[in-house]
Amino acid sequence: MSDLDILKEWGWDSHFSSQWEKSQVDRAVIPGRVVRQDRGLYKVIISQGEEFATISCSLEGKYLAQCQNTGSFPGVGDWVVIARVEEEKGLICGLLDRKTVIKRHNPGREAVSQVMAANIDTVFIVMALDGGRNFLLPLLERCIVAGYESGANPVILLNKADLTADEILEEARIQAENVSFGLEVYPISAKTGFGLDQVAEYLVPGTTSCFLGKSGVGKTALLNALGRKDGLSDLGREGAVSSREYKGRHTTVSRELFRLPGGGMVIDLPGLKELGLWGEDSSLEETYPEIAELSASCRFRDCTHKGEPGCAVLEALSSGALDARRYESYLELQRELAYMARRADLRARQEEARKWKQINKEMRHFSKEKRI
Ligand code: GDP
Ligand code: ZN
Repeated sequence: MSDLDILKEWGWDSHFSSQWEKSQVDRAVIPGRVVRQDRGLYKVIISQGEEFATISCSLEGKYLAQCQNTGSFPGVGDWVVIARVEEEKGLICGLLDRKTVIKRHNPGREAVSQVMAANIDTVFIVMALDGGRNFLLPLLERCIVAGYESGANPVILLNKADLTADEILEEARIQAENVSFGLEVYPISAKTGFGLDQVAEYLVPGTTSCFLGKSGVGKTALLNALGRKDGLSDLGREGAVSSREYKGRHTTVSRELFRLPGGGMVIDLPGLKELGLWGEDSSLEETYPEIAELSASCRFRDCTHKGEPGCAVLEALSSGALDARRYESYLELQRELAYMARRADLRARQEEARKWKQINKEMRHFSKEKRI
């Protein structure tokens, strides 16, 4: 077994080893996987004989300039080329081709793309069945697209199944399947453990996953439940990675890759807003500031910019001052938001109706009991 073979536990496979063998290295370098990033500082796992070691790395000057030029830096999950300088420090001087990558979705700013997670095998898309706001089909569609774009395998999890009546769960599952074209959809519960065996099957040693979903859908609970499943609750037992709570990490800019007790790896993703996928209060103005600015000059204050007279947005569009693609995607988001609002409204009304039905039932039951 070569020294590099033990890196298989961290996801090293033929995709990387063949690149490594082919690369004509003219100096002593070693490969390593980025497990944490704090701005320009990288924590990297390397092989050291029979064991792993974690070293701190920064980007070597020449490589840094190259990254700045292309606007593309290594991110968590990347396999990098390291020129070892001393015992616990190194310089990153190259990158091995990624298998997959999740980038920040930056509408209108394609030039800037930030790597959020690299070399992921499975993207778990998590929705929750605890009321309309955590089960959103347009959001699900977006996450599926982002999942496909990354190159990884998207899998859909409908969490909090314990909170939902069977027929509603079934309805949600069918709706999710209808927009996901053959992807796996699993109803689960992080609370009761229902369905987690199926999730665990994806988290085999050497594979890397990430969880994509709004805050509150149960990503932390899910990770804790999966960590417990294998009889170990300390997610950070590898020592190389922090054992801080998954949740706490979202407050910092750093990203992290950690191993679950069963050997599967998870990359901690930032929130949907940071990913550019969904603002919790996703607003048109925020996403399209140039259109918001133009609309101040529209004749009507509630102009929808779809044909009203005196519309400054349409004027800018015909003069070429406004990019047609931006305008199209603005309309698309506008439709999506309207759809969401209608849907949330419908759900709220259904919920209300259900509640009253239940109350009526109980009252009938109550009066029946009284009569006896
Ligand atoms: P995150 O923001 O996605 O990490 O969500 P959390 O893991 O913090 O969960 C949000 C809330 O939902 C917490 O109060 C959890 O206890 C609760 N929760 C998570 N999963 C489940 C579940 O399967 N069933 C129920 N009933 N509650 C859950
Ligand atoms: Zn207008």
